[in-house]
Amino acid sequence: MALSLPFDPIQRSEEAEKCVMRGESRMYHKFRAAPYYGGIATADAIGCSFLCAYCWNYGRNENPPRSGNFYSPEDVADRLLEISRRRNYHLFRITGSEPILGEASFQHLLKVIEIVFQESSEAEFVLETNGLMLGYREDLADRLKFRNLLVRVAIKGVDPASFEKIAGVRREFFSCPLLALKKMESLGVRAWPAVMEDFFSKAEIDALKKTLRQNEIRAELELECLEPYPFVLENMRKRGLSIRG
Ligand code: SF4
Repeated sequence: MALSLPFDPIQRSEEAEKCVMRGESRMYHKFRAAPYYGGIATADAIGCSFLCAYCWNYGRNENPPRSGNFYSPEDVADRLLEISRRRNYHLFRITGSEPILGEASFQHLLKVIEIVFQESSEAEFVLETNGLMLGYREDLADRLKFRNLLVRVAIKGVDPASFEKIAGVRREFFSCPLLALKKMESLGVRAWPAVMEDFFSKAEIDALKKTLRQNEIRAELELECLEPYPFVLENMRKRGLSIRG
């Protein structure tokens, strides 16, 4: 999947979905107990519609392996539930990728969530998404009405230009995560925006908060911190990105 930046993320989603889905099964590379959110059962999937300079799964998302391990929704849920029982966790997530690339991956995700909620009455599922497809296809958010679902939308930039530079995708798609957040708020789905704080000044973050309010997004903005792995710093350098001191 040779990429020239910035690219069309909708086309990229379709291509990624063809690589990482086989029927109902999706390609994953790991299942683990992770310390984030105070402890969360985590499935690391492969395949994304973006190619963020700071992605810790950059190589796999840039070029998904030609042959990987595919897991059915039942397999994924079983593995997550086993981790949660062993660690006494109540939080679950799929990460390292975009969970929603198209209809097949969305169906896979919904089934994983449904099984987890059937098997664990205390479970909360954190859907970590870049918000592209949830904003691009208005019908998808309607199907996310689970009582214990939390949706964290990484909006990548503070404006279209910074979004394009960080996510590697065309700037006009900056509006998609905002549309997704607005729609989910209107549906009563618990969702909030997140952005990597390290690239922006306080004034730029304040301007983003104003943009969110103008788009009728009332949820609080989460400020993320960069994990500066050496390959992340190298990818950022190639993209012309630097951390603010
Ligand atoms: S949206 Fe997330 S998974 Fe996709 S490239 Fe960006 S950081 Fe990686």
